[in-house]
Amino acid sequence: MRKKIVAGNWKMNKVLDEAVALTSELITMAQDEVQGDVRIILCPPAIYLTVIKKYIENSPNFSLAAQNCSDKVSGAFTGEISAQMLKSIGVEYVLIGHSERRQYFHESNELLAEKVNTALENGVSPIFCCGESLKQRQNEDYIGFVKNQITESLFHLSAEQLLSVVIAYEPIWAIGTGLTASALQAQEMHSALRQHIASKYGEEVAQEISILYGGSVTAASAPELFASPDIDGGLVGGASLKSREFTNIIKAR
Ligand code: 13P
Repeated sequence: MRKKIVAGNWKMNKVLDEAVALTSELITMAQDEVQGDVRIILCPPAIYLTVIKKYIENSPNFSLAAQNCSDKVSGAFTGEISAQMLKSIGVEYVLIGHSERRQYFHESNELLAEKVNTALENGVSPIFCCGESLKQRQNEDYIGFVKNQITESLFHLSAEQLLSVVIAYEPIWAIGTGLTASALQAQEMHSALRQHIASKYGEEVAQEISILYGGSVTAASAPELFASPDIDGGLVGGASLKSREFTNIIKAR
């Protein structure tokens, strides 16, 4: 059985009081309402990680992810945060390769491979994001494009290393647009990515890796998406900023 994961990417939202209030509400609702085995990963802005860590301390199904980390180990890189620093404050996961970072900060597959390496070397699990633009979906081999993102950023890893990675398929055309990929569209890609992993690492490894779907996930769309055989949960943006909505998404996993 693969790990079921629901992650909330808060992006650059919330001031401290709001971040703390959202966390407290989520913990209470999850305690009261969420049954079964699901990992809930909060991805707040890095500045709140240590504060929120204290709030989730007694909630074993909650974990933290940073939204980014440096590809460098340490040194004169003003403004950057290393994987080692994340590890030192108890952060277990880090988003790597989010489409907003690829687009606005020009992160290439090659750079992302370096980030994946430094995260793994420091015992932080990458949540590796991939996905195609609308133009790519319409004009090109969109499955091949996403497979290539995985090949170039992950396929240098050993099988053991790859098993510490979570993959998040986030079609860019579905992010923040209200356009969710249909469960069929998402399942098609997830299954293709799993086969791609199997072709390099074998079926057993491929069956163990959690692949999350992200892109306008809501409490309404989550049940059908999460019922698909190769979709192991979600990476949620906008809807993760509201405790009731996010809890309902968690319950749908
Ligand atoms: P939305 O759920 O707001 O579309 O964002 C998805 C996302 O980018 C999560 O990382």
